[in-house]
Order: sequence, then C-alpha cells, then structure tokens
Amino acid sequence: MKYTVDQNGYYGKFGGAFIPEMLYPNVEELRSNYLSIIESQNFKNEFDSLLQNYVGRPTPLFFASRLSEKYKAKIYLKREDLCHTGAHKINNTIGQILLAKRLGKQKIIAETGAGQHGVATATVCALMGMECIVYMGKLDMERQRPNVERMRILGARVEAATSGNMTLKDATNEAMRHWINHPTDTHYIIGSVVGPHPYPDMVARFQSVISAEIKKQLQRETGNPYPDYVVACVGGGSNAAGAYYHFLHDEHVQLIGVEAAGKGVDTPESAATTALGRIGILHGSKSLLMQTDDGQVIEPYSISAGLDYPGIGPLHAHLFDTGRVQFLNVTDEQAMNAGIELSRMEGIIPAIESAHAVAALSQLDLSDEDIVVVNLSGRGDKDLETYIKWGRY
Ligand SMILES: *Cc1c(COP(=O)(O)O)cnc(C)c1O
Repeated sequence: MKYTVDQNGYYGKFGGAFIPEMLYPNVEELRSNYLSIIESQNFKNEFDSLLQNYVGRPTPLFFASRLSEKYKAKIYLKREDLCHTGAHKINNTIGQILLAKRLGKQKIIAETGAGQHGVATATVCALMGMECIVYMGKLDMERQRPNVERMRILGARVEAATSGNMTLKDATNEAMRHWINHPTDTHYIIGSVVGPHPYPDMVARFQSVISAEIKKQLQRETGNPYPDYVVACVGGGSNAAGAYYHFLHDEHVQLIGVEAAGKGVDTPESAATTALGRIGILHGSKSLLMQTDDGQVIEPYSISAGLDYPGIGPLHAHLFDTGRVQFLNVTDEQAMNAGIELSRMEGIIPAIESAHAVAALSQLDLSDEDIVVVNLSGRGDKDLETYIKWGRY
C-alpha cells in the first residue's frame, strides 16, 4: 500500500484540486514548481538553517518517566511545544515563505481560526520583510483578541471576515477571493494538510522534519529508530502528518490519530470527523467531512480551537480508509484532565490540542516494553484562559 500522494494529487480516493476556474493559474503555478524548489540544495540549506537557528530545532525527544510509570510503557514526548511561537505550525510557514520568495511573490495572505496559524504566518512575514494580510472571522477576532494583537504587533493586517458564521470557513473564503484577485504577486499560506493539491503534500513535507528527528533521536536513545506507537492529535492533520511521515511505510509502527470528541461523538457538539464524517469536498479537496444529508457542512465543536474543524486532510482520510492509522477520540473532559495530569506529572502545560493526544494513552493496550512517542504539538500558554475557566486543578 502506498500512502504518499500520486501524480494526480490523490491519496487513494481522496485529494485532488476542486477549485474555481479563476484559481487554477495560481494553484497550477505552485503544483508545477513546488517539488523542484523544495528539493533544491539552496532551498534545503536555507530551510534547515532557519529551522535550527530561528525555530530552535531539533526539538527535544523527552523520556517522560512518571508518565511511563503510570501507563506501564516507555513514553517519549516530542517537544514541538518548544518551537518558536509555541507550536509546530512555524515549520510549515517557514517552508512556504521560502517557496513564495522563490516564486517571486511579494505578498502573503493566510486564513486563521484561533489565530495560531495567523501568528506563525505574521512571524515569518516579519522575518522576511513581506507584506502580510491574515483573514479571520469577526467572531474569532473577538474570541481570540491576544492573537489578533500579536499579529498586529508583528506588522500584519488582520481583516475581519463578516460573512456566514464569521469563523474559519468564512475567513478561508475571503482569503481565496483575495488570491483570485491578486494571482501574480501573492502567495496563500495554508496552515494544515488541507486544501487543493499540492498543499496537503507540501505541508506534510515541511512538517516531516518531526519524524525525521524522532527517528534519529530514538536511534541514539534506544538503538532502534522505530517506536511501537506514534500518537498525535488531528485537527486538519499537519502535526500528525509530520510525526507519521517517515514511518508511514513501516507497518510495524502503529500510528494513532486522536480527534476531538467535544462533548461526545453521540452529541451534536463534536469534531470527530472519522467517527461522524462522510466523503465530500471541502476547501478544495475530496476528503471526509461532517455534513448533513443534503451536504451542508456541520459546525464542529471542541474546547480546543485547533481541533475545531469539520474535516481532515485527504492523506488522513486515506490513512483511515486503509486502516493504516487507528483513529481514537477524546472528549473535552478527558483532554482537560490529561492536560492537568501532564502539568502535574512532568511539569509541562500542553496546548489543549496536544492534551488530546496525551489523553489517548489510556485507550491503548500498552505493555512494559512498548515505546510510545506522543507528539506534543504546542504549549499551553495560549490556553491559559480555558484552563482557568475549567478551574478543576
Ligand atoms: C493548529 C494546531 C493543531 C491542529 O492542527 P493540525 O494541522 O491538525 O496539526 C494542533 N495543535 C496545536 C498546538 C495547534 O496550534
């Protein structure tokens, strides 16, 4: 079984590029150039140097001894929470801005929901001296004020999307519209392994540094580059894609994806796409998504903004379809408890997204000798308000 993208931009029956005709030249320019650019030595040198000296890579692979004792397995945490700006997202924004420069673009646009991808984009635009516009739903701007101000401090313009529910989907529509109108000078940085081909493959490649490092670090630590399990949370799926990437074709490594169940998969308030979704088209690709019988996208819900997305990327739909990745889901309650447990047991306050991955440990049938890598996608600073409101600590 092959898990990487094919010639036509598909992962099995998922993927493709379902875009309005007016967007075709932009996407085609990217598609026909991305591989030759990111595989060039010149690109690799600049990307690796920035990952090392700006982002702070390699991030540590930390043996969590108290957690290991509790779950009766050898548990390692891949510390993406220690990346500059607090999460894995910057791996991708650095890659895309270097690509945009080589395509001769001067301006960057992005969409953002909770603001994490917007901040990572505004950051690399400041670094490169490029103009940056971030589209964000008006409602999200009110809910995520600190991130709006972070982007503004970094010099980005934050544009309110005022259509629909005024959230992520509407911000994405606005960004697409802007891109159609400015095809020659602007690159659109998408924040996860979603969107039309080549975005899912491109973003997965930029994030694949995570599993490349895990292999080296495990080899050094244990004498074997292969863990028994890799566990990661899945919103759109970029941190998971990065953590799985170099293990995809090693079938003895069990890959676990953790989705947000919200209040529970049997309630209307959930974001567990593999449990609730069906095949459909969202944001330019064919994948699994939560929709009504007549194809209307269902508003997802999770306590964690980064997992509050009604679909998953096409790679993950294929990994689910083929059984290569086992998908689990974790409720708000279980995630919050795991976040507080990790804080108490290891001195690490995780992003609530990442707490979902930690919470899934109790659903695995682990034995003493099992080596488990949990991808800690981000840190909890941004979620302090949510922890305070939760209050049970
Ligand atoms: C955005 C985000 C996620 C979810 O996005 P993926 O593309 O699924 O990785 C997970 N964790 C953190 C910390 C995030 O900021």
